[in-house]
Amino acid sequence: MEIIYKVLYSNRRSISAQIKNSKVLIRCPFNTPHKVINQFVLSNEKWIAKNLNKPTIDIVIEHNIKIEIIGQEFLVEKTDKKTEISGNTLRVHNYSNEDKRVKSFIQLIKTLVYPYFKERLDIYTRMMDTSYLTFKTTSANKRWGSCTSQKIVHLSYQCGFLPHKLFDYIIVHELAHIKYMNHSKQFWEYLSMYIPNYKDIRKELKKYNIIYKL
Ligand SMILES: [Zn+2]
Repeated sequence: MEIIYKVLYSNRRSISAQIKNSKVLIRCPFNTPHKVINQFVLSNEKWIAKNLNKPTIDIVIEHNIKIEIIGQEFLVEKTDKKTEISGNTLRVHNYSNEDKRVKSFIQLIKTLVYPYFKERLDIYTRMMDTSYLTFKTTSANKRWGSCTSQKIVHLSYQCGFLPHKLFDYIIVHELAHIKYMNHSKQFWEYLSMYIPNYKDIRKELKKYNIIYKL
């Protein structure tokens, strides 16, 4: 097969391949000859093909599209007016800068999901008989959640796009870190008391991609 790829040069030391949004990305040191890159791609053909054909679940965010957030359907709309939630419409101000449009959309989603995230977090906190210090929503991309040693739980706004069972897994995962600050055997055993099918859920989570076309 012919592999189409994009090359990203940087001051790294080695070549690596990555699949991002169903595209092949080759990262390599500055001045790497084309021949070397080509050779690398060829010798990793099997891995690339296998990972390219993995099923993905793409959540595309663009004008005039309906998306489900925390189980509710919303219409995304680019507008000349200010960025706001109006009923079931997510209005995003039509900034000329794409980055700005995406940022203002993310800000909107953060406000929207916060109460729901907090509610689920508190339900599981009681269920697991644990406690956290505080909770924050982040703008992280595909880093669904994290938990610091100070018991601060971070959840990415992107969790709002996930089905409930996947989102609940992330919450249980982060709360389990309050007891075990690592991914030890004990950690997974403890987590499996609440989410027995966590292995399937982890596989499912990897399929999700959030794609912006705003
Ligand atoms: Zn973890």
